[in-house]
Amino acid sequence: MPEEEMHFKASPLLMQPEEIEAIAGLFVRWGVRKIRLTGGEPLVRKEAADIIRRLSRYPVELTLTTNGAKVDEFVELFHSVGIRSLNISLDTLKEDRFLAMTRRPLFQKVWDNIQLMIREGFHVKVNAVMMHGVNDDEILDFVAWTKEQPVHVRFIEFMPFTGNHWENKRVISYQEIINTVAEQYDIMKLRDDHHDTSKKFMVYNHAGTFSVISTMTAPFCQGCNRMRLTADGKMKNCLFSKGEVDLLSAFRNGEDIEPLVRQCVLEKEEALGGQFAPDVERVDPDLLTNRSMIRIGG
Ligand code: SF4
Repeated sequence: MPEEEMHFKASPLLMQPEEIEAIAGLFVRWGVRKIRLTGGEPLVRKEAADIIRRLSRYPVELTLTTNGAKVDEFVELFHSVGIRSLNISLDTLKEDRFLAMTRRPLFQKVWDNIQLMIREGFHVKVNAVMMHGVNDDEILDFVAWTKEQPVHVRFIEFMPFTGNHWENKRVISYQEIINTVAEQYDIMKLRDDHHDTSKKFMVYNHAGTFSVISTMTAPFCQGCNRMRLTADGKMKNCLFSKGEVDLLSAFRNGEDIEPLVRQCVLEKEEALGGQFAPDVERVDPDLLTNRSMIRIGG
């Protein structure tokens, strides 16, 4: 969460559960096979359970990215609708650092919830954004966690978004992460699928795996098949896209949204929303045309 006070959109401006269901249904008809609910935090929305139930009726892999603070309240629902995999954001394994980063005293709760989800048989991926001067001393701690538990740690390179004080010198690169782990452990490269966002590895004989999302130093946009729909019904064809297409207004006006979706897909830039590739070293996040991360959804 940014430091400044957040102003959340009034509920009528957001897609309502039946609108989410209907618009998602169109995407499914056009070939979408996986839906991920993200945030902000998807489980704080009061209709979260209703939305999850509605989306679970489609023939898709349904999953979530969450901060993990409330997943214990949803275990039965997740089981009943067939959710099998969750991404949980956790940038540090130190309680005091977690408090400083999030300004919420919820480390133990999130940790206990991750343990609960592992016990309950979910495929748990932990998203950790790594930054010099913040959590660069924890790379090996995260990898050590994979020794006994089947947890999948995903190290994410720090990316520039409006208001997140991004600086190139704070990025811990894919290569730095791999070098740090390889100094301590024998590691093995795992196979990545064409559309994967992360480069997967494991330490020999560890129960879990780790991977790196190398958006800044080794982008993987050529295999990207992702589209985003924001909570207020705007379609983005890339995490960094400058433009958005207002599907919700068109849908509420009874218009056919297929031409809008098609045009949005066709306009997808070759890489990184066309905003800073290949010059990632000279990015000024405040000059980017985009929403802040919590308004896009990870
Ligand atoms: S095209 Fe955009 S959303 Fe896709 S991988 Fe590249 S930066 Fe991410």
